[in-house]
Amino acid sequence: MSIVLHGVAVGAGIAIGRAHLVTRGMDEVPHLELLASEIPTEITRYEQAVKATRRQLEQLRVAIPENAPAELGAFISLHLMLLSDVSLSREPIDLIKEQHINAEWALKQQTDKLAEQFDAIDDDYLRARKQDMLQVVERIYKNLNGLSTEVAVEEDFEDDAVLVAHDLSPADTVFFKDGRIAAFVTDVGGPTSHTAILGRSLDMPSVIALGHARELISEDELVIVDGSMGVLIIAPDDVVLGEYRRRIREFRSHKRQLSKLKKTAATTLDNINIELLGNIETIEDIKNLHKLGADGVGLYRSEFSYLNRDNLPTEEELFVLYSDVVKRLKGKSLTIRTVDLGVDKNPRWFGQSHSLNPALGMTGIRLCLAEPVMFRTQMRAILRAAVSGPVRMMWPMISSVTEVHQCLAHLETAKKQLAERDEAFNADIQVGVMVELPSAALSINAILKHVDFVSVGTNDLIQYTLAADRGDESVSYLYQPSHPAVLKLLHYVIRAANRLNKQVSVCGEMAGDEQYTRLLLGMGCADSQ
Ligand code: PEP
Ligand code: MG
Repeated sequence: MSIVLHGVAVGAGIAIGRAHLVTRGMDEVPHLELLASEIPTEITRYEQAVKATRRQLEQLRVAIPENAPAELGAFISLHLMLLSDVSLSREPIDLIKEQHINAEWALKQQTDKLAEQFDAIDDDYLRARKQDMLQVVERIYKNLNGLSTEVAVEEDFEDDAVLVAHDLSPADTVFFKDGRIAAFVTDVGGPTSHTAILGRSLDMPSVIALGHARELISEDELVIVDGSMGVLIIAPDDVVLGEYRRRIREFRSHKRQLSKLKKTAATTLDNINIELLGNIETIEDIKNLHKLGADGVGLYRSEFSYLNRDNLPTEEELFVLYSDVVKRLKGKSLTIRTVDLGVDKNPRWFGQSHSLNPALGMTGIRLCLAEPVMFRTQMRAILRAAVSGPVRMMWPMISSVTEVHQCLAHLETAKKQLAERDEAFNADIQVGVMVELPSAALSINAILKHVDFVSVGTNDLIQYTLAADRGDESVSYLYQPSHPAVLKLLHYVIRAANRLNKQVSVCGEMAGDEQYTRLLLGMGCADSQ
């Protein structure tokens, strides 16, 4: 009998293969009481397991192959940091001493305590780091017990191996590209987990958050992984297999067609040129952008350089970073969005939001306007970087023309400050806004008079128009890009911009979804990100 499980789609594509179950160390943790004389040996055992874990992670970090995802090194470094923290390197030893227990049980108790602390964190991103902590613990546990910590031993696999794990850590994926792994699935993991990010970058069919997949699958069992739909089929019958084989052929031929088109100019039959731009979060993403043949960067989510640090970046730091981005883009256009913080992107210095509706609270441009020193520091860095290449500035989450006036006033002040310092900057920098709120869409005619371009941020426009949280699975059925209300707003904005001869682009997941391409072109949009 076949079983179908639904999880979170991560890496697109379909694979049919034989399951290879990844051993799980911490299923049944023994609880032993030790004699006082046994404690020193137990402590040494724990210290050696931590040492071995560190050595393995360090070795993996230097052995990362060229073709591995760019972010892998940073993720392994994070695991090394977690390992060095007293909560894993010291506190389990204190528990062994205080309670006269074995190292495994001390580690288990400490893990439960840490897991509880992570669960209590409000910030989604930081809460999701619990999984990283558990992955480090799993490795320590395996080292304590002399279990293998290697996941991908390529000679062991057939070409169609599907890895089935309770969880996979970034370190586990180091040799995935070189191995014979066709796909992977995990029981746990959220859409922002590092496993999910790596799954996307690895370009390998993968599904996470499948619940109890590992328990339901036997070693070597035939499975289908549909990474596009987030589906896992265990023991499929011949009809289902036939259908998925057909889909694999279709997917491959579609990919081949697309890669042939990479260098072809994006021009419609009636000779309208479409600019295809990419979104980036970090400078490392530029490699991919060139590989895919994008015309430039339509959205640089600059807030990522404000996260995971205790202080604000300085103007000089941002200037050096943006100038490096410009250089690496080799003449391609760059639109830098000023920081869009708040909701799920809260820097440490910002503190926790106590708003009941953070998405309607102090976020996006509201936060920039409330922190003018921070805002103008970033503006000055952008203005300076715009001397060396085609850089534009864009403001997020604008809700009214008043906010545009306020941004323009800060821009003038930033320019004046640079002029007083005799600093080189681009005084004619193009400025634009993101249309992400229905109020901005409906005020578009007034807004357009004061800016050079607009970009419709569909991710948020859909969420705010339909009052459906974009990150909440339970209302995802309401989150519909093709809802008539969303389409009306989109059409209204595009038409107004075309009428006033201002550049308009469409951004967000909807812009990258082929099923909407014709619709957006038909509405008169010639840029898409
Ligand atoms: C959007 O809202 O569509 C967008 C691109 O911005 P972000 O996804 O960063 O909120
Ligand atoms: Mg947005």
